[in-house]
Amino acid sequence: MILKGKPVADEIKGNIIKKVNEYRQDGIQPKLAILRVGERPDDIAYESRLIKNCKTVGIESQIVKVDDKINMVDFLSVLQQLNEDENINGILIFRPLPKQLKEDEICKFINPLKDVDCMSPVNTEKVFIGDKEGFAPCTPEAVIEILKYYKYDLAGKNVAIVNRSMVLGRPLAMLFIGENSTVTICHSKTKDLGEILSRADIVVTGIGRGKFFNEKYFTNKVTVIDVGINFEGGNMCGDVDYDKVENFVDSITPVPGGVGIVTSMILLKHVIKGINLQLKI
Ligand code: NAP
Repeated sequence: MILKGKPVADEIKGNIIKKVNEYRQDGIQPKLAILRVGERPDDIAYESRLIKNCKTVGIESQIVKVDDKINMVDFLSVLQQLNEDENINGILIFRPLPKQLKEDEICKFINPLKDVDCMSPVNTEKVFIGDKEGFAPCTPEAVIEILKYYKYDLAGKNVAIVNRSMVLGRPLAMLFIGENSTVTICHSKTKDLGEILSRADIVVTGIGRGKFFNEKYFTNKVTVIDVGINFEGGNMCGDVDYDKVENFVDSITPVPGGVGIVTSMILLKHVIKGINLQLKI
């Protein structure tokens, strides 16, 4: 089975639109602030996609542009205004940031109730202790949403995640544990990767190497969630050699059209979650 992202994203989108309409009736216009430093072309491209996505669900977006020479004091002052602005429900800061801006301090400074991209250690801690009243990073949440949409019972399943980063592997392991799965995290120093993957019911790949995993890594019963985004000869591909693996494994997410499209929608879902959290205090 091909686990396409679009139906999952469409379902989330429908729920967001419903909530946006409810909030509007109560006089609340959901709003995302996008804080961009400098004029990096990939940031600008991502920003355009985000603005478009926001429009399709009725979320307002506000772009806050600052010079890439901005110092830490001035940057924190801009962020403070966004933190305090009652009309803003979510804040997204594009990264990487220039060297003079200390990401650690910025992560601690962002209002945790508006931290839609899970930068704040407050939200990271919530993910690790299993408190759902915070924001998880969008990609790990997208992985779980896809599996739930396709009615996977995650309890007791053996899950292998090939990635140990803070944006993917580590928080995702916590989300799977929250679903009563048994998790193995693999990385570049893991021995016998193939043997570990062959014991898994679900494999999540996120190593950033195009078509690295062929059918030899998998059994025909496994579900493969390919998070990798790579470009080969101008074409986007995942970490899995999709053409070789597609008909061999039980199910797999395509790239493009899999995890990425759901991840984008999770960010907007977080803006709505932000309103809920902000109204509670
Ligand atoms: P990262 O920080 O570079 O992490 C890569 C991970 O893969 C590391 O844990 C690394 O191990 C491991 N790894 C690399 N080569 C390996 C190998 N040969 N065998 C086993 N493990 C290996 O990257 P990231 O930021 O987490 O992103 C990972 C991928 O996901 C990228 O392709 C990125 O584009 C994609 N991504 C997709 C989405 C989405 O929405 N679909 C969102 C974010 C990221 P070490 O820790 O030992 O170095």
